[in-house]
Amino acid sequence: MLVNNLENLPQDILRLFRQIGKIAQENNCRVYIVGGMIRDLYLGRENFDFDIVVEGDGIALAKKLADKFKAKLVDHEKFATAVLFVPNGIKIDIATARKETYEHPGALPNVVPGNIEDDLSRRDFSINAMAASLNPEDFGELIDFFDGLSDLKKKEIKVLHDLSFIDDPTRILRAIRFEQRLKFKIEDHSLRLIKEAVKRKAFDTVKPPRIWHELILILYERNPKKYFARISQLCSLKFIHPRLRFKKDTLRLLESVEKILNSYNRLYPDNEPVRGWFIYFIALTDRLGRREIKDVAEKFNLNREERDSLYSYKDTNRNFFSFLSKNTLLPSQIYILLEKLSYETILALRAKTVDKLAKKRIDDFLNIYDKVKLNITGDYLNDLGVSLDSNFKKILDRIFYAKLDGKLKTKEEELQLARELVKNQ
Ligand code: ATP
Repeated sequence: MLVNNLENLPQDILRLFRQIGKIAQENNCRVYIVGGMIRDLYLGRENFDFDIVVEGDGIALAKKLADKFKAKLVDHEKFATAVLFVPNGIKIDIATARKETYEHPGALPNVVPGNIEDDLSRRDFSINAMAASLNPEDFGELIDFFDGLSDLKKKEIKVLHDLSFIDDPTRILRAIRFEQRLKFKIEDHSLRLIKEAVKRKAFDTVKPPRIWHELILILYERNPKKYFARISQLCSLKFIHPRLRFKKDTLRLLESVEKILNSYNRLYPDNEPVRGWFIYFIALTDRLGRREIKDVAEKFNLNREERDSLYSYKDTNRNFFSFLSKNTLLPSQIYILLEKLSYETILALRAKTVDKLAKKRIDDFLNIYDKVKLNITGDYLNDLGVSLDSNFKKILDRIFYAKLDGKLKTKEEELQLARELVKNQ
């Protein structure tokens, strides 16, 4: 049986697939397109993640393909995988078909070369374990050892064997991700296996970077709140931090972040995109205290910028909101308060407050105040004899705040104030 919708792929991609099959044939190997792309072809969902599996030497074939297509090749000999960057912008992951065994649960698997059946056997769910042949003799033929197509029709997420979640507990998060994204159901037996694995504290065996990777994938989804609600229901959020709970206020906060991100372009038309996934993460961990947030940052080895955003969110206490909702506040006061925070922190704080005035002030900061620039530069202060060390920054700041507060309209007025401030310093 031919894979559905394969022929509907863009012509340049189909041509590329046929060429890959032909070159593989000439080199006596078999090639398959595998995984999410086959699933999504059946579901009519766009997916341009091209994963190719080679029965034979994957890297050697990747090198031949790179020559033929004049593509850039990045290979990882250790993992027998390579990435091909074809000049028309297409990226293809190529791997040697492999067989995996797990030395102990949660560990990275031991890998040896295998055939396509071995390669599909090590995958997470039946719907992700289908492949299509690319060799000319049976181009487009569906390979489906695990009845993935039938599960796809039943809209079920099903593991390939009973130890799947014990071998790799991150599959629990993956099962929930596909269940929520595709509006499928985790098949009954697989659901029991999840509960059993959770009871056996399977997550304790997983290295944090692997959990973090899966968490980010969820945070990147369109509507992460329902994913986390389901995670909380099936396995709690303890694998992020033992004290982390998913309560109504977490749901509300995630919802509020979602609203902001969905109307981001309308709210902040001239601003660069922000890292939405990270704002969701700040919201998700909102209930944790300062010390606990630090544990999380360390556990997942967050970078400096991410840590700063999380900590400054945490350090911003109720005074922040009562200050921002005061009746009278100058633009410069708002600027001084917000300028030191990342946009991710600011937007998480905006999601948290229900006060209209506080929201408006945050929006004014992002849309107006943070874009204001002085007409004069530090050179002018230099010319007036202000040395770089002394009051240089203070004077420039005062001119800037005066401008923010509408007291200076022209460059001449900025110059005038500069002269006055230098004289009185
Ligand atoms: P997405 O649409 O989110 O990209 P995907 O199915 O392409 O989903 P990837 O995370 O890109 O998912 O993984 C590609 C393929 O690799 C999957 O379809 C699955 O077959 C396999 N895979 C990924 N992670 C695991 C895992 N932890 N255990 C087993 N197989 C996995």
